Amino acid sequence: MSNLNTERVLEVHHYTDRLFSFKTTRDPSFRFVNGQFTMIGMEVEGRPLLRAYSMVSSNYEENLEFFSIKVQNGPLTSRLQNIKVGDSVLVGRKPVGTLVQDALVPGKTLYLCGTGTGLAPFMSVVKDPDVYDRFDTVVLIHGTRFINEQAYGDFISEALPNDELIGELVRSKLKYYPTVTREPYIHNGRITSLLASGKLQADLGLSPLDKDNDRVMICGSPAFLKDMVEMLEEHGFEEGAISKPGHFVVEKAFVEK
Ligand SMILES: Cc1cc2nc3c(=O)[nH]c(=O)nc-3n(C[C@H](O)[C@H](O)[C@H](O)COP(=O)(O)OP(=O)(O)OC[C@H]3O[C@@H](n4cnc5c(N)ncnc54)[C@H](O)[C@@H]3O)c2cc1C
Repeated sequence: MSNLNTERVLEVHHYTDRLFSFKTTRDPSFRFVNGQFTMIGMEVEGRPLLRAYSMVSSNYEENLEFFSIKVQNGPLTSRLQNIKVGDSVLVGRKPVGTLVQDALVPGKTLYLCGTGTGLAPFMSVVKDPDVYDRFDTVVLIHGTRFINEQAYGDFISEALPNDELIGELVRSKLKYYPTVTREPYIHNGRITSLLASGKLQADLGLSPLDKDNDRVMICGSPAFLKDMVEMLEEHGFEEGAISKPGHFVVEKAFVEK
């Protein structure tokens, strides 16, 4: 049996000349834990061309959704950015990943920190009712350079709080903190600096970082991950895994080549 499902594109949304998202059908046999990623791609010259992608959709949703970069000369995304409704996309049957609740020890506040397309795995996490059972407060932080890169902003602040299934949990427990670095916005600055200085927590009425209460999931550029891990380790946080849960978990949003 092939390790790939062929799904059909149902919707495509272009945010900017560098970012787009799309929805596809979902094979009923495809199961995943919210926060995981899988290999997706297209057939090119008779062979599958695949890259790692986080699921934006939650595991109870009927369709799959992905949020993608457009790399001008990227082998996959130079092609993927042209997909249209009705086209085929290959989706790997074996989701994996470290950004899962079971890799964290229990805590009170969960910080989900994503830069750029690093928001993707956290979209599936904030739609997961289980995360609101585990934590009193869930903070979703999305860092980008420009305002128009703040994808899903309207969905998070308007649609999600009114969602039939999880709207009430979202209204009482989710705090959304979009921040940009290169133009004035409701919040400005790098996530690492905002957390380390305590400004972000003060803006949201939360206490400064504390390993006894706070848990952190991080997804972004390799440089962002390095800074975040250094900052958390200075505060005594330890990295977790399913085999040994800890205070924070990390996943690269992409690999620098
Ligand atoms: C665990 C994991 C999860 C991932 N999840 C996603 C996801 O949900 N959405 C997504 O768009 N990409 C994601 N990626 C990156 C993705 O796998 C591909 O790299 C991306 O789709 C570009 O593919 P490509 O073949 O066009 O170019 P590649 O040859 O893969 O990449 C070329 C270069 O483009 C830059 N680049 C690649 N991806 C990104 C990105 N997302 N943001 C900024 N710069 C980038 C890097 O400098 C890279 O060296 C993930 C990567 C990993 C390791």
